[in-house]
Amino acid sequence: MKIWKSFAILLCSLMSLAFFSGCGKNGDTTKLVMATNAEFPPFEFKAEDGSFQGIDIEIMKHICERTGRELVVEDIAFDSIIPSVTSGKAHCGVAGMTITEDRLRNVDFTTPYYEAFQVIVVPKGSAIQGADDLKGKRIGVQTGTTGDTLASDIEGADMNRFGKGAEAILALTQNKVDAVVIDNEPAKAFVAKNSDKLVILEEPLTKESYAMAVRKGNDELLSLLNTQIELMMADGTMAAIRAKYEGTAEEETAATPSAPAAE
Ligand code: GLN
Repeated sequence: MKIWKSFAILLCSLMSLAFFSGCGKNGDTTKLVMATNAEFPPFEFKAEDGSFQGIDIEIMKHICERTGRELVVEDIAFDSIIPSVTSGKAHCGVAGMTITEDRLRNVDFTTPYYEAFQVIVVPKGSAIQGADDLKGKRIGVQTGTTGDTLASDIEGADMNRFGKGAEAILALTQNKVDAVVIDNEPAKAFVAKNSDKLVILEEPLTKESYAMAVRKGNDELLSLLNTQIELMMADGTMAAIRAKYEGTAEEETAATPSAPAAE
């Protein structure tokens, strides 16, 4: 009797653990809650019909389809994503998020699935030609991003932080900032809409790796995501998703120097 009771308690604990970590066995209908900031095209954005779209959204849809889960997208401020993962509100953060030492103190990251760059966007004809020219300038960034960290280290930088990358770009078109530091693919998407006014400087500032963030110690979900990422890389799904969203930008990405292996 006693042994059955202990067994039942153990079973219940294991089931609730699987439920709360969002990693029940394949084939169940557990939800997978993904925290993101849908202001980062082509990785995540809101389409005209109000649906969430982009590279990250499609990757997660595939993972959910393949593992029998229902995808729930939580669209929140970029700097709230890690707190949402650590508190367990979301199972994972998927937001074109760069692996950094600082973030690794709070969350675990999956295998990287994308190599990116920070770039400098300036008005056409600007005297700013590279990183050295940013000293003492008004720099626009999205709050809490690697672009923010990077630009904040520039000597005398007058930091202008915005909730959305698009707002930083708007400020640039209005001459309220001198340059914007942002990830390469969103830069292309935003500049394409202002191609008469803005350009992206050729020299990238950094190379970075995007990965998904999960709560520290949620090894079951981490390994599920890693397995799926590796499968999608091996079977061409990842490349197909990228090609669909990067469109003509693909050529430019291929021309950039090859990214380093993930750390
Ligand atoms: N890659 C950048 C970072 O991780 C920006 C991500 C974003 O704005 N969604 O900080």
